[in-house]
Amino acid sequence: MFEQFQATPIVEIKDDLLDSKDIQLWIKRDDIIHPEISGNKWRKLKYNLIDAQKEGYQNILTFGGAYSNHIAATAAACKRYGFKSIGIIRGDELSESSNQTLSKAHNNGMELRFVTRSGYRKRIDNLWLRELASEFQAFIIPEGGSNVSATKGVAELVTEIEIDFDYICSAVGTGGTIAGISNELKPYQTALGFAALKGEDYLKKEIAFLTSSKQWKLINNYHFGGYAKLDNQLIHFIQNFYTKHQVPLDHIYTGKMLFGLFNMIQKDQFPKGTRIIAVHTGGLQGSNFYKQA
Ligand SMILES: *Cc1c(COP(=O)(O)O)cnc(C)c1O
Repeated sequence: MFEQFQATPIVEIKDDLLDSKDIQLWIKRDDIIHPEISGNKWRKLKYNLIDAQKEGYQNILTFGGAYSNHIAATAAACKRYGFKSIGIIRGDELSESSNQTLSKAHNNGMELRFVTRSGYRKRIDNLWLRELASEFQAFIIPEGGSNVSATKGVAELVTEIEIDFDYICSAVGTGGTIAGISNELKPYQTALGFAALKGEDYLKKEIAFLTSSKQWKLINNYHFGGYAKLDNQLIHFIQNFYTKHQVPLDHIYTGKMLFGLFNMIQKDQFPKGTRIIAVHTGGLQGSNFYKQA
């Protein structure tokens, strides 16, 4: 049932800054796994859907905000693999026509239930989860798709990389991706997680909950003021990156990660000869600044 997507390509980035600092950088293009089930969201869904199927579920229920890449990916993956999907969406002022993420999810067959912001906070309340599971007869996947099964799927992306590297970078939202990557590293390798939102202590706790590895570091000074916040400098970076390297970046996750990484390289935070992989986790369904380049 779960036909494998092919291993995603890895491309080397050639850039004057990298040359002058003697740093090698490759991007692991998980964004091109699938146009809708993209990047880390597919990696995180894979074993959740396998678990759901093993346990005999036909319905998948999960949680997300109005622009959630996880909602978009879950709806598309459930359609592809024959599950019915239910999305509990933060914001009772929203509807299925509020934006493209929600209308596409709806068109992919997802049943959307809009809840108030305070109601949405109950998404980690076991009592509510049990009620939802029984109302919808559904297998429940947490917000962002991050749980132990998710980390197993993410770890597979590391095994696809044949280049020997020192650092591997990912954007961090709920922490499942960086946790999964950390689980699969050789002893001399380090994962750098670039926070897409404020809240260093919270994020560190979430990551530590999903991995016992200590080979990760949270980089917390490139979130541009918080989740989905941006400025002209970031937009300029994304547009320039696309023009120079033909790699589209989103403004919520991967744009901030690469902006931060280039800034750290500029500031000599890596020794000469360092080999770095940046994982392109996707996210382009919700962001098209790069197209205006
Ligand atoms: C969701 C998402 C992330 C964050 O992944 P987590 O596992 O939640 O930390 C990073 N990049 C993109 C493009 C995403 O959609």
